[in-house]
Amino acid sequence: MEKLDTWQWQMTNRIMDIPSLRHYVDISDEEASEIAMAQSKFRWAITPYYASLMDRHNEHCPIRMQAIPSILETHNQSGIQDPLQEEAQSPTPGTIHRYPDRVAFTVSSECAMYCRHCTRKRFVGQPVQRTTWQAIQAGIEYVRNTESIRDVLVTGGDPFILSDDRLEKILKALRSIDHVEIIRFGTRTPCTLPQRITDRLCDMLAKYHPIWVNTHFNHPKELTEEAAKAADRLLRVGIPLGNQSVLLRGINDSLETMKMLVHGLLKMRIRPYYMYQCDRIIGTEHFWTPLATGLDLVEQLQGHTTGFAVPQFIVDSPIGKIPLSHSKLVELTDDYAVLRNYEGQTMTIPCTVEAESAPVAI
Ligand SMILES: *Cc1c(COP(=O)(O)O)cnc(C)c1O
Ligand code: SF4
Repeated sequence: MEKLDTWQWQMTNRIMDIPSLRHYVDISDEEASEIAMAQSKFRWAITPYYASLMDRHNEHCPIRMQAIPSILETHNQSGIQDPLQEEAQSPTPGTIHRYPDRVAFTVSSECAMYCRHCTRKRFVGQPVQRTTWQAIQAGIEYVRNTESIRDVLVTGGDPFILSDDRLEKILKALRSIDHVEIIRFGTRTPCTLPQRITDRLCDMLAKYHPIWVNTHFNHPKELTEEAAKAADRLLRVGIPLGNQSVLLRGINDSLETMKMLVHGLLKMRIRPYYMYQCDRIIGTEHFWTPLATGLDLVEQLQGHTTGFAVPQFIVDSPIGKIPLSHSKLVELTDDYAVLRNYEGQTMTIPCTVEAESAPVAI
């Protein structure tokens, strides 16, 4: 029993074949042969913990849909491998430098569970593309030599798949660079492998503050007691938590589900940060939602719930992340503006400043 609680046990006992999967869910022979066909496109592996959240009888279970390969991954060939042009913006093999003051630094090409909607399928889970220590060192040197970088986003794959010692080496090196102000991690382990968030890891991370962590929960079913405990351990050592979700058709693209997700996150003291439009990665078309879905969801949350429960709706692109929302500005003239509130009521406010009260230039 006790062994089940270690992350190493979870990793070595990951589900990677149909017989093991059948311990958790009913798989018809037809579905089994489809999985066999689809798995050549993008690797699959599921932690026993994440598999235990699956609904045995429902093939539309949101946990199943995120984790088990679908034949649609091979049918749908719209989209491209790297729509964000990350490769073109990589000064070293593991760094993506798109904004002058911050850099995304991929230190691992592996994950606890391989999300079917992954944006970085082009190298995540691919043995030939495994991130090397040399590449990590080259990334660190790039940050050291680029003084405009004040924020390093350590990502992957999943950085928390690395050992505590490896992570500490990276943190120590980054912290020795004067211009690096904040270090943040993007990791899905609190969701797919909460056992990874050990006290030992948290105490190590806390030596290198200011550290921030963004995680990746997409559905309220993922907000378990184990996940809450993992979040609590990170929070107790002073690490603020944010969540980045991806809008996925049939998984979380309804108001009811999204509300349960953001409210559940707040109860775990995780602040919803971004809700992404699913990137147009090849083999993910069955997850795509119309742009209006994200816009409407944010509209239906904003004002109707706690302000900080509402994530920004983001379309990512080679020119950066672009936040979108329906405008609340109905009309704008030189003299007045008409604004709309969350219930659809409008209000006119003056927008000129009286000459007498304006600052006087001397
Ligand atoms: C998302 C991202 C960042 C961080 O963006 P924030 O909006 O600051 O969270 C930095 N670099 C790259 C390449 C990114 O994709
Ligand atoms: S955790 Fe992130 S990088 Fe890993 S498979 Fe999921 S989306 Fe891709």
